[in-house]
Amino acid sequence: MSKKRIAIFGSTGSIGTQALDVIESNPGLFEAEILTAQNNDTLLIQQALKFKPNAVVIGDEAKYEKVKSALSSTDVKVFTGEKALEEAADFDTYDMMLAAIVGFAGLKPTLKAVEKGKPIALANKETLVVAGDIVMQMALQKRVPIIPVDSEHSAIFQCLVGESRNPIEKIILTASGGPFLGKKPNYLVNVKRDHALQHPNWKMGAKITIDSATLMNKGLEMIEAKWLFNLHPEQIQVIIHPQSIVHSMVQFQDGSIKAQMGMPDMKLPIQYALAFPHRIPNESQRVDFRRINIFGFEEPDTKTFRNLTLATRALFKGGNLPCVLNASNEIAVWAFLHNRIGFLDITAVVEQTMEYVTYIEKPNLEDYFESDGEARNFAASLIKI
Ligand code: NAD
Ligand code: MG
Repeated sequence: MSKKRIAIFGSTGSIGTQALDVIESNPGLFEAEILTAQNNDTLLIQQALKFKPNAVVIGDEAKYEKVKSALSSTDVKVFTGEKALEEAADFDTYDMMLAAIVGFAGLKPTLKAVEKGKPIALANKETLVVAGDIVMQMALQKRVPIIPVDSEHSAIFQCLVGESRNPIEKIILTASGGPFLGKKPNYLVNVKRDHALQHPNWKMGAKITIDSATLMNKGLEMIEAKWLFNLHPEQIQVIIHPQSIVHSMVQFQDGSIKAQMGMPDMKLPIQYALAFPHRIPNESQRVDFRRINIFGFEEPDTKTFRNLTLATRALFKGGNLPCVLNASNEIAVWAFLHNRIGFLDITAVVEQTMEYVTYIEKPNLEDYFESDGEARNFAASLIKI
C-alpha cells in the first residue's frame, strides 16, 4: 500500500497538530503533503522542517517573507493569501484533505477539494452548517467520501458501518455540557473568557471551546449531522453526558441502539478518518469501566443555554438561517474572546441577527456568501466593533 498523502488545512490548530502526531506515529501509512496556517508562522516553519511537505500556505501575507526565507534551503513551496488556499486545494498531489480550518474560512478550500474529487476528513463543521446542501450535493456528484472527524459524527459514522441497508430511526448526539453545566443565567452573566476556556474533558481551539460552553457547538453539530447522514431534523436528539465516554449513538427501526465509546481523545476520530476503512493500533489511554463511578445522561437545559434553541430553529427552518446563525456566532464569540461582550450577549447577538437578515429558502453559493457578510456586519454593529 502506498502512503496516503494528506493535505492538512489548518495544520497549526488543535486538530492539525494532533493530526501531525498521528502522521508521525504512522510513517509507513501517511505523509504530510500540504500544510496551511493563518498566523502562526513559527509553528508552520517548524512543521515544514520536520514533515517536509510539498507545499505550505501562510494565510497572513505579512508573514510570507519570513516563512519563505526560513524554508529557502528546502524544497518546500511557499504560498500566501486567501486565494492560495483554494489554489493549494486544487493541487493534484494529495490523496486526502483534512479540513481543520476553523469557521467559515474553511468553506472555500474544502469545496474546491470536493470539486476536485478528493476525499475529505472533515473537522471544519462550519462548512456543513453554512452550505451543507451544496457541499453534500457536490460530494455525491463527484463520489467523494466525506468522513467526519468531529467525535460525535465519527461515532455515528462508525455505528453505521455495515448498516447501509438499515434506515436510521434517530441519532443521539452526546454533549459534555461544558464547564457551566448546571449553572443558571444569574451565574453566567458574570462569566469571563478565561473561565469559559476551561473545558472539563477536551482541549481544543478557542472558538470551539467557547461554543462548547454556550452549547452552540452542539447546535452546529445537529446541523452538521443533518447533512452528513441525510436526516430529518426530528431524527436528531441531544443528550448531556458529562463523562464524554459515549461519543454518540444511533437508534435503528427495531429500537436497537449502537454507541461508539472511547476516551475523550481527538486522535482517535482523526486517525479513524485518515485510515478509513482500516483501524490502526495506537497506545492511547483505554476506557476502564471498573474505574468509572458515574456514567450519566440528562436533558439539556435549553432555557438557560438558549443557543441550542436558536440552532434548533435554524436546523428546522433551513435555507440561509444556519449560515446566519454561524456568522453571527463567529462575530459574537470573537467579541467575547476579546472581552467586548458578556457570555449571555453571545446569544442575544445571534438571536437579533437571525431576526434581521432576510430569509432565503433556497440559497445558492453566492447567497450564502452574501448572507454571511450581511450577518457579520449586523452582528458587528450590535457590538460596535
Ligand atoms: P484552532 O483554532 O486550534 O485551529 C484553527 C486552524 O485554522 C489554525 O491552523 C489556523 O491557522 C487556521 N485558521 C484560522 N483562521 C483561518 C482563516 N481565516 N483562514 C485560514 N486558516 C485559518 O481550531 P481547532 O480547535 O483545531 O478546530 C478546527 C475545526 O475543527 C473547527 O471547525 C472545529 O469546530 C473543529 N473541531 C475541533 C475539535 C477539537 O478538538 N479541537 C473537535 C471537533 C471539531
Ligand atoms: Mg464534537
